[in-house]
Amino acid sequence: MRNAFGLMLASIVAAVAIAGVWYWTSPRADAAPQTIAAKVADPAPASKKLAAKDDVETTASLSSRLAAVAAAPAAPPKPACANPDALGVSRVVEIDTTGGPGFGFEHFKQLDFLTDKEVVLTFDDGPWPVNTPSVLKTLADECTKAVFFSIGKHATYHPEILRQVAAAGHTVGAHTWSHANLNTKKITDQQAKDEIEKGFSAVKLALGSAPAPFFRFPELQHGPAAMAYLGSRNIAVFSCDIDSFDFRAKDATQIVNTVMTKLDKAGKGIILMHDFQKRTAEALPTLLRRLKAGGYKIVQMKARMPLETLAEYDDALIREQKVPVISARAVGSVVQTVSE
Ligand SMILES: [Zn+2]
Repeated sequence: MRNAFGLMLASIVAAVAIAGVWYWTSPRADAAPQTIAAKVADPAPASKKLAAKDDVETTASLSSRLAAVAAAPAAPPKPACANPDALGVSRVVEIDTTGGPGFGFEHFKQLDFLTDKEVVLTFDDGPWPVNTPSVLKTLADECTKAVFFSIGKHATYHPEILRQVAAAGHTVGAHTWSHANLNTKKITDQQAKDEIEKGFSAVKLALGSAPAPFFRFPELQHGPAAMAYLGSRNIAVFSCDIDSFDFRAKDATQIVNTVMTKLDKAGKGIILMHDFQKRTAEALPTLLRRLKAGGYKIVQMKARMPLETLAEYDDALIREQKVPVISARAVGSVVQTVSE
């Protein structure tokens, strides 16, 4: 009995053990998850199609974005000229200023680069409120470009206007710090250097970038020492061919007539005007129309390389421009409302 019971118990234990082993080793134990996995995986072709479609869409949208980026370069696209009859710019020339070449036959006759009917527009003494923006608008209306010779002091007074000049694509050079005549015995070589360098540093400070190494002497008064210095700094010197004498004109009509009479005689040339002058701003729309009607073409002069200003002048100017702080007291301790 004990043996029979023992055998039975052993059989039951064995059966349970076999069942257990069968259960744990049976492929069915894994089959369920496999089936589920297979069922999930079954629509794979559809998923792949979806995935592929997504890929295509992603690629397509990426491509279109890249195309959009490629179509929109970092610099703003050149706006088409809205004026079909604009004076425009017929030619852009790049100047290698090495050695300080001189331009403008009134004083420098070596570099005869303009052909018949070609004209360069230049403006001195800005930037100045009202007049400089007016000149900029007229130039923009005619889709044409000029060279601006800024006075350093004026650049520090109205840097935002000078930035508008540069942003419009015009060439910006300098015209000394304080418009001092550098060709008098009262001016030392050091003072002349200071006027030149401080002028360029002031223009750079206003623009936030280096100006063109283009310089014009105040009153076109160039002396040999200053000329030699500019040559050593690889700064081009601009005189002119056509002096508008706009600063002493009684009205806009006189400026237009003076320029056109001289230009028709010379046939071409660098025109000297002043964006600082109200009458010049007033004369410019008519003058540009007359240039167009007369078959004149505008040449824009650019520099191959910007000027490397001297750090000592940049630094001195920054120190000078900073308003000294004379009180560090909090506003509440200085200004108190006593009645409302
Ligand atoms: Zn001037």
